[in-house]
Amino acid sequence: MLSALIKKLLFVRQFSIDEGKVEILGERHVMLPDSALLELQEIDPTKFYELMKSSALKQLQDFVDHARVYKNLKDVLFGDIGKLSRKLGTGEGIVKNLQDIFSIYGLEALEIPSLDNAKKEAVVRVRDSTIARAYLNKNKARSRKPTCVITAAVLAAMFSFLFGKNVDAAEDKCMSQNSTYCEFTVR
Ligand SMILES: [Zn+2]
Repeated sequence: MLSALIKKLLFVRQFSIDEGKVEILGERHVMLPDSALLELQEIDPTKFYELMKSSALKQLQDFVDHARVYKNLKDVLFGDIGKLSRKLGTGEGIVKNLQDIFSIYGLEALEIPSLDNAKKEAVVRVRDSTIARAYLNKNKARSRKPTCVITAAVLAAMFSFLFGKNVDAAEDKCMSQNSTYCEFTVR
């Protein structure tokens, strides 16, 4: 089943796969297999993290700009994303929005067991990480360190946007090691 966000984007023609082009909000995307992404991030994890974080942050800002420009988009879609950073206290709606946005990356579903807007900290879990699974498929053995660099980068971008402050996401537990889920501390 399509994610709620993708359905809404399709409805307002802001998501398309046509004539060799994948476009989300007017920006072209390239779909890559998880195994290729795993290799790419391993070339230079630190650099990859920084690149992906700034790219995801820009995309989030584009979402908000689009919502301002296109009224139809605003109505069905980003009703309150633009106000998220000022309205964090409202709880469930925010978490749902975060989960929707995260879902379009294909990095699996997000859980947020703890979110503290005053301290600008959060704990985030991913149950069946795409990247950790790719690692286990490739290596047939557990990893010695967490492997989900791209996931951490996207989370860092999302929460930096939300908190209105530059934060990072550190992966403390990873499914590629010995954990049943991946867990990230954002601060
Ligand atoms: Zn992981």
